[in-house]
Amino acid sequence: MARGSRMRMLLPQPRSRFLVVECPNCGHKQVIYSHATFPVRCLSCGSQLVKPTGGKAEILGKVEKILS
Ligand SMILES: [Zn+2]
Repeated sequence: MARGSRMRMLLPQPRSRFLVVECPNCGHKQVIYSHATFPVRCLSCGSQLVKPTGGKAEILGKVEKILS
């Protein structure tokens, strides 16, 4: 028997978080903000690492570590 409401638990959005992201192009690692509202580029090669979406930013590189 199914429950009346199957509401998905929404994870509380962390207000701010810093991530260590590895550039997929050159492997350079840099710290970026998880809710960046502007595109972040790799300091080494200039590849875009973060795409702002209006909410949580989309990480284009590989997330190496989450700093809290
Ligand atoms: Zn790079």
